[in-house]
Amino acid sequence: MPHILTTQNVSIHYGQNEAIRDVSFTIDEGDFVGLAGPNGAGKSTLIKAILGLIPISHGTITLFDTPQKTFADFGKIGYLPQKHTGINMLFPASVKEIVALGLLSDKRPPRVLTRIDWQKVTAALHDLDITSLQDHMISELSGGQQQKVMLARAIVAEPKLLIFDEPSTALDPESRNEFFTLVKKLNTEKKMTIILITHDTGYIGTHANKLLYIDRTLVYFGPITEFCAQEDASTCFEKIGQHIIWHQHN
Ligand code: ADP
Ligand code: MG
Repeated sequence: MPHILTTQNVSIHYGQNEAIRDVSFTIDEGDFVGLAGPNGAGKSTLIKAILGLIPISHGTITLFDTPQKTFADFGKIGYLPQKHTGINMLFPASVKEIVALGLLSDKRPPRVLTRIDWQKVTAALHDLDITSLQDHMISELSGGQQQKVMLARAIVAEPKLLIFDEPSTALDPESRNEFFTLVKKLNTEKKMTIILITHDTGYIGTHANKLLYIDRTLVYFGPITEFCAQEDASTCFEKIGQHIIWHQHN
């Protein structure tokens, strides 16, 4: 089975401060990995380093069996950041224009979209059931709809790996369920490998096959079933949840 992502003994510093110490794990094609851990545990930091947005101070990262230093195929990775930095929701752009932005990173200047590109945009809108919104301005949409547009932008280039950093935090329960259902569909039907940071441990327990639990260093990586093997699954996820909540109140 092809390896999508490997980290070996990765450490990351902000100046003198160590945010991540000695983290090693391997993600296989088709995995749905729930990335959990308390606030400030280094989850976002780890993801940014994987994407090459911040440097690592020790260890190696391998993407699609290629050392990250020489990896150039970032079109294979879709990313939904924790906050939609870079996209101002008041920016005067239509839904289909925003989704089309997801195709530009793979192009060299002059960045011109072809007819095939626009077909991909149409397909992504269709897959997420937001075709009817395509000509709306992004600013007119609800939070849940905007989130689906950002998801469409992340998948329009048909990535093999999709990374989400707490995508559901701002959503109401109904939009959250809908969003998570879409993510699961991308995993099962489009065979996309998923890394999902979320505090929603119930969702991870139901849909992820692996758990990556980080608290500045690796606490657990492996099948969810094994993590829960010692006790029954519901108390197991209660425990993860309580651990996270406990840290949030400290
Ligand atoms: P998480 O996503 O798990 O909540 P983060 O990766 O955001 O955690 O943060 C991990 C640690 O690194 C925290 O102590 C945080 O304050 C620190 N940190 C995050 N971003 C920066 C930054 N840009 N500069 C300095 N320290 C940072
Ligand atoms: Mg974070």
